[in-house]
Amino acid sequence: MNRDGARKSIWQEEIKTFSSDAGFDQLFDVAIVGGGITGISTAVRLQKEGKKCIILEAANIGFGTTGGTTAHLNDFFDTTYAQAIKDFGLNNAKLLKYVGIEAKNIIKNNIREYNIDCDFERKTAYIFALDESQARQLDEMVKGSAQVGHQMILTQDIPFPIPFKKAAVVPDQGQFHPIKYIKALMQAFIDLGGVLVEQCLCESHDEQEDQVVLKTTKGEIKAARVIYATHIPPGVNVLHFMNAPYRSYAIAFSIKGDHYPKDLGYDLIDPYHYYRTQEINGEVLLIAGGEDHKTGHAEDTGECFSKLENYVREYFDVETAVYSWSSQYYEPVDGLPYIGVLPGSNGRIYTATGFRGNGMIFGTITSQILGDLILTGSSKYKELFDPGRIKPMAGFTTFVKEQASVAYDFIKDKLFVEKISSLAELKDGEAKVVKYDGSSYAVYKESNGKAHILKSVCPHAQCEVRWNSAEISWDCPCHGSRFNVNGKMLTGPTVKDLQRIETDPSV
Ligand SMILES: Cc1cc2nc3c(=O)[nH]c(=O)nc-3n(C[C@H](O)[C@H](O)[C@H](O)COP(=O)(O)OP(=O)(O)OC[C@H]3O[C@@H](n4cnc5c(N)ncnc54)[C@H](O)[C@@H]3O)c2cc1C
Repeated sequence: MNRDGARKSIWQEEIKTFSSDAGFDQLFDVAIVGGGITGISTAVRLQKEGKKCIILEAANIGFGTTGGTTAHLNDFFDTTYAQAIKDFGLNNAKLLKYVGIEAKNIIKNNIREYNIDCDFERKTAYIFALDESQARQLDEMVKGSAQVGHQMILTQDIPFPIPFKKAAVVPDQGQFHPIKYIKALMQAFIDLGGVLVEQCLCESHDEQEDQVVLKTTKGEIKAARVIYATHIPPGVNVLHFMNAPYRSYAIAFSIKGDHYPKDLGYDLIDPYHYYRTQEINGEVLLIAGGEDHKTGHAEDTGECFSKLENYVREYFDVETAVYSWSSQYYEPVDGLPYIGVLPGSNGRIYTATGFRGNGMIFGTITSQILGDLILTGSSKYKELFDPGRIKPMAGFTTFVKEQASVAYDFIKDKLFVEKISSLAELKDGEAKVVKYDGSSYAVYKESNGKAHILKSVCPHAQCEVRWNSAEISWDCPCHGSRFNVNGKMLTGPTVKDLQRIETDPSV
């Protein structure tokens, strides 16, 4: 398995294992933890600028959300310019506009400089409102874009076969194959003298006066600075209370005939659907995404795929669902990412998280922001994305509700955990959190009847995990840690596995 879920994403065949082992006894300038787009883009930048860098990846590159993304490259975001103006002021919203422009330029420059073949294409994006309330929302978006000088223009036509009330067009957007891109960037990093160590989980850090000592499953690593490019920093950090984990679903369909939308599309339903195409093995597939929900909050994650598939089939002339997969992203409390010095650290440790559905762009701009902070001590984006910004400036009420829902779920789980008295009540292929002999266990029975029994308490913050039937994983509803049926950690912030209970093989 080389992605953090059981389903195969459209990009996955491209994931490659790089074999290199470091001389751990040297002092690195920067240790980058995490081999997704954020870690690799940042590592290349720093290595190129003469820093001695090492990337530590718990599994393989692309194992996290970068292997499960849909890789639209946009300069408009889930947090609209209208919202950003309201919450952060016009000047900050204008600054946000440059993130998209600069990140796209970084990607284009990397493609040129390292001669990367990653199916990059310039695309036009269409945003369409399906009812009156969405139309009003779109008007706000267009107005906000105009105020910051971003091009989003109302249009009468869209190339998508979906009836709409109002639509806007955004020129000069893009798409690429994310794994082809990071794989080539990783090769460039190694060619520049960088060191990559895969299958290396970073368990903790000890920040000393002049260096940071990382404790990893492959031994100790010393670096002057550390970057947690792990999508959410590991361990326990205040940022876990500022970001809520969400799952999103994607399906790649084969298409009947030659008439299909070649552009990028987004409706304004909450949660929205998003569309693009991708050629894989000589065939063009339509990738549709949506059905997002808070991690651990869907009764039946398999149903999310059915809903998405039914919705797409209503409008598009598609044939087979060739790939279907889901992945995780993080919603920041005030709508903007946290990129900079890790709160609670003394300034030698950095992180980047809270990208919502725009991490191709925010992960890429992280290379510029953290690169500039480490190389020069300043970045024009430093204040806007400061992870230490004291209190949420916006969205606080919603966030409190989110946290209340987490607390409620925690209590509810404790009180209403299914009361079955023996494992025999589980059917083959089924999974449940069960009460057994006074304790709670996460139990999964394979189709051949073999049971996998784990303690159901997430080691990160002691919440009860929930079953994700779509990705065959146990997901924590509190902060998004995820585990496979053997209890092995798939997704942070946990750095520990679920405790496995050895069973009699005959059970
Ligand atoms: C379904 C879906 C569709 C999306 N579509 C888009 C899109 O169209 N456009 C867009 O811009 N964004 C999109 N996003 C968001 C974007 O994909 C992510 O924000 C981005 O991939 C995050 O990249 P990352 O490198 O920060 O994290 P990841 O790709 O998750 O990488 C983190 C890496 O860190 C490793 N790691 C974790 N903990 C440790 C540890 N303790 N020690 C060592 N290694 C560790 C993991 O194994 C992983 O490989 C989408 C997200 C989802 C869920």
